[in-house]
Amino acid sequence: MVLMNVSNSLPVLCIVIPCYNEEAVLPITSGLFLGELADLVEEKLVSDESRILFVDDGSNDATWKLIRSLAESNVHYTGISLSRNRGHQNALLAGLMEAREFCDISISIDCDGQDDVRAMKDMVIAYHDGCDVVYGVRSSRKADSLFKRTSAEGFYKLLNKMGVEAVFNHADYRLLSKRVLEEFSHFEEVNLFLRGMVPLVGFRSSSVYYERHERIAGESHYPLKKMVALALNGITSLSTKPIRIITMLGFFISILSLIGVIWAFVVLLMGKSVAGWASMVSLVCFMGGIQMLSLGIIGEYVGKIYMETKHRPRYIISERTSTKF
Ligand code: UDP
Ligand code: MG
Repeated sequence: MVLMNVSNSLPVLCIVIPCYNEEAVLPITSGLFLGELADLVEEKLVSDESRILFVDDGSNDATWKLIRSLAESNVHYTGISLSRNRGHQNALLAGLMEAREFCDISISIDCDGQDDVRAMKDMVIAYHDGCDVVYGVRSSRKADSLFKRTSAEGFYKLLNKMGVEAVFNHADYRLLSKRVLEEFSHFEEVNLFLRGMVPLVGFRSSSVYYERHERIAGESHYPLKKMVALALNGITSLSTKPIRIITMLGFFISILSLIGVIWAFVVLLMGKSVAGWASMVSLVCFMGGIQMLSLGIIGEYVGKIYMETKHRPRYIISERTSTKF
């Protein structure tokens, strides 16, 4: 008689968690992730070969040491360490590409406890129902400051206006199936904005809603400057609409200038020409401003092309807690 191993037919899940200087939160949240994974295994939603994969993004505190000791304490914890800090998006990609090797589904989540781990169950259920992508969407942003809430809302609206298909209030908490990860591995750009790239892969998708909490400990790594950089990167990496807007603006201003020239000529012919110093100065400043802005936007794209042509690796893995998962 052949005994069927039930867990073999269950999908192997990999929870991918980028960590940068998170020594204060890891001891707390690692337990939360493991508890949730144990529940999913117990409910026979995922295989007991599932793993939690921490990606140390070149931290300079005890993060990697903690990850290593977690891996020694429990077989479900694994980790990779990047050779230097490469930023959240690259760290996440490193983890996802690593997960692709051994799992059937991945769920990416931040390490600071802000995203509710209980939403994972609904994500896995949606996967069993045939979804390849499941977005974790924040149902409320009570934990965020008023400024972060309004700027984030404006950001998503702007992204959509620019033709970038990003799910409103979804960051990087999501489930991806193996075939999405496989397809994703062919996206070779160095300027990463994962939440805008995933919808480009396609396949069936759905959303699950969760409450966003406050960070358990430590500080956000996304101050205003980094948030603006991420927003700008998201738009210029995935949309050429700003350049189109510049062209339209240039066209519009040219027509305005033409009208202005005709008007000046008419005034001259009527002999009413006066020294219009103020209007002249404002016109010059306005035109100068528009030109600088336009050049800046074009420069953003030229910079992006420059970085893409180098084909540099997006991350380098320096260490693993184990070579086999
Ligand atoms: N992170 C990372 N590399 C970085 C910055 C952040 O891997 O250079 C990780 C960080 O440890 C966390 C996640 O990315 O797990 C999100 O960062 P954070 O919580 O600081 O951002 P916020 O939630 O404030 O937007
Ligand atoms: Mg956070």
